[in-house]
Amino acid sequence: MSRDTSSSAFSGIGTPEVAATQLHRAVQARRPDRLVRRPKMLYAIEWDADCQVELDLILQDTRESDGCLFGDIAQFFVPNLQDTVAALRLCPDRACQVLGPSIKGGHSVTRRGHCLRHGRHCNLQLARRHMAGTSCKGSSAQGRREQEGHKSIVDTLAWIALRRLIQEPEVGQENVEHFPTELLSEYLGDLYFIDWVILDPRMYGWPCARTRKWTMMRHRQKTLAMIHPLSQFLRRFHRVCTYTWREYWFLHRYCDDATIGAITQHPTVIPDELQADLMWSQRRAGSRGAALADAPTPPAD
Ligand SMILES: [Zn+2]
Repeated sequence: MSRDTSSSAFSGIGTPEVAATQLHRAVQARRPDRLVRRPKMLYAIEWDADCQVELDLILQDTRESDGCLFGDIAQFFVPNLQDTVAALRLCPDRACQVLGPSIKGGHSVTRRGHCLRHGRHCNLQLARRHMAGTSCKGSSAQGRREQEGHKSIVDTLAWIALRRLIQEPEVGQENVEHFPTELLSEYLGDLYFIDWVILDPRMYGWPCARTRKWTMMRHRQKTLAMIHPLSQFLRRFHRVCTYTWREYWFLHRYCDDATIGAITQHPTVIPDELQADLMWSQRRAGSRGAALADAPTPPAD
C-alpha cells in the first residue's frame, strides 16, 4: 500500500480516493506499531465546481503527495484538434469516425493540462491504478437511443485516448449497464485484457438499486491476466447484512471526523445534497413522488 499510486477521471466527489483512504486507515489500525504510508493520489479530473472543492480537500489531505486537479478532460486533446472537438460536440455521431484514427495513432492527446491546484500547467503522471466513472448520458435509459451520438462521447474518447497514452497497469471504469464495452475493445483491446461485471448495491445489503457495469482492464505487458473472471472474484464479497438509515444518509450529515483536518469544518459535498437527490429522483420516469416535484430542473446525473 505504501508504494501504491492512483489517479482518477470523471472523479465526482472522489469515491476511489476515499475508498483508498479507508483501506489505509484499516491497515494502519491493524498495524499500530509501524507507520503505513498512504497511497499516493496523483491527479483527479473533474469539471463540476462543487466536486472540485471536495477533490481539492482530498488531494490536500494526502500529506505525502501533492496531487493535481484538472477540469475539462477535453483540454488534453492536442491544440490542432481543439476546433474539431468543438465542432464534434454539435455533431457527436461523427466523433468516432473523425477522432478514431488519431486516437489509434497515439497522437490525439497530450499529458499536459491546466492544473487547478497549482495554478500552472502540470503533467498527468503514470499511476499504478486509474479509476473513472465515465459519462453515462449516452448509455443511460433516457439517452440509450442516442448511444455514441451523445455529445459526451467526445469526453469519453478523450479518456480512452489518455489511457492509450499513459497506459496504467490497471484501469477501472464504471458506467450504466448498457455502456458499449466494444468501444473499449476497439481502442484499447490490443493493450489491455478487458473484463466486466454487473454490480448493484443491493448485492451488498444496501437498500437502493443502482445497477452499474464495472469494467476492469489489465495491461497485457505490465500485469498478469486474472486467473478467474471478475464476476467469480466479486461474488466472494456478496453479503446479506443490515444497514440502518444512518449509514444510508451519512452523506447528508456534517462530517465530524476530527482526524481529517480541514474537511472537519465543511458540510456535505454538494450543498443541500438531500434536496438535490430528491429533485433528481422525483423526475425519473415512474417516480411515485413525481407529483411532488415542483422544484427547478436538477443538475445532470
Ligand atoms: Zn498540478
